[in-house]
Amino acid sequence: MNFLEDDYQDIREGVRALCATFPPEYHRKIDAERSYPEDFVDALTREGWMAALIPEEYGGSGLGLTEASVIMEEINRAGGNSGACHGQMYNMNTLVQHGSEAQRSRILPKLASGELRLQSMGVTEPTTGTDTTQLKTTAVKKGDRWVINGQKVWISRVQHSDLMILLARTTPLSEVKKKSEGLSIFLVDVKQAMAKGMTVRPIANMVNHETNELFFDELELPEDALIGEEGKGFKYILTGLNAERALIAAECIGDGYWFTDKVTEYVKERKVFGRPIGQNQGVQFPIAEAFIEIEAANLMRYKACALFDAGKPCGSEANMAKLLAAKASWEAANACLQFHGGFGFACEYDVERKFRETRLYQVAPISTNLILSYVAEHILGLPRSF
Ligand SMILES: Cc1cc2nc3c(=O)[nH]c(=O)nc-3n(C[C@H](O)[C@H](O)[C@H](O)COP(=O)(O)OP(=O)(O)OC[C@H]3O[C@@H](n4cnc5c(N)ncnc54)[C@H](O)[C@@H]3O)c2cc1C
Repeated sequence: MNFLEDDYQDIREGVRALCATFPPEYHRKIDAERSYPEDFVDALTREGWMAALIPEEYGGSGLGLTEASVIMEEINRAGGNSGACHGQMYNMNTLVQHGSEAQRSRILPKLASGELRLQSMGVTEPTTGTDTTQLKTTAVKKGDRWVINGQKVWISRVQHSDLMILLARTTPLSEVKKKSEGLSIFLVDVKQAMAKGMTVRPIANMVNHETNELFFDELELPEDALIGEEGKGFKYILTGLNAERALIAAECIGDGYWFTDKVTEYVKERKVFGRPIGQNQGVQFPIAEAFIEIEAANLMRYKACALFDAGKPCGSEANMAKLLAAKASWEAANACLQFHGGFGFACEYDVERKFRETRLYQVAPISTNLILSYVAEHILGLPRSF
């Protein structure tokens, strides 16, 4: 159930039909085994959903971020986890918008057909964290090669991706006017890189999210690995990050509806003290409140996507949508776990898995505090704190 009607029923029905062929047992097993949902991602690719944002001339369906967000929402709403594949959506957008014609025509048709995956984006570093412009990974031009040295952390889906977008400093911080200048993005062929200077070390973590430490030791990339203009990578990566935030807002909304649907059904059925627990207002109110918050977050998500699709600035809206949706899905997760009582902790109900999965989004891809500080300083004009 949700209150908002939208114009995307065809997409919703198509993705729902596919997701119905991957029942809860499938996702539960993948989670328990800490494996990758290859069959699921392959099916999404085969049916063309992963190519939503690829322009038609490159074999995709040429849809907007709004439609892509509906696809991601439906996966999470059906009990799956878009975290296994959402990288391709926002990364390909960076390539579509900032890649050269040669890069686009070489890569995009292969992404559309499923021959290649572009699931990874390497931004975060262990010593600088959220303070992205201070990152230490360098790319130095030597003849017709770029030589990469440094380290990244929490880089997701590298082991299930053929390509990765990497952010590195090409001009030393001391030589740029603004700290956001002098950063560049590169398209890295993962397998080739692993054979000549990139080491991948998996990080065991709370969710079944394949994520890694990366070490670069004199990794050589060809000249044409650079995406767009040298030194403008931070600006380019923000396009991808805004898309990522709007998509993850949609995923949280999908999670939120999954939790409210699941708990609503349960509290109608479960009888304690001779009546359904859902008859108690102490049970009803947290569920109703979470539902209201999900609906409200949904409005901001559509606004962020509409601005993005219109080519207008959407940083504030994408950030606010992500914050609202991550909070709403977390409230819904808490209510769902709480009112399942002990059964909420049993893996077979899927509540504990979805609870872990949705919790991530208050920290990654940007933490709640950093969104609050962005709004405080950039929208409200409060003094900068850092
Ligand atoms: C499962 C997972 C997958 C990820 N996947 C990727 C990926 O694919 N690619 C990638 O590049 N990154 C990825 N990340 C990294 C993620 O984007 C970062 O973890 C996140 O941005 C936070 O950065 P950090 O961990 O360095 O935290 P830090 O920057 O160390 O911050 C730690 C805490 O301190 C708070 N904090 C920091 N500074 C301030 C301040 N000035 N005011 C108030 N609070 C502050 C933050 O809000 C945060 O809660 C992933 C992370 C996880 C956990």
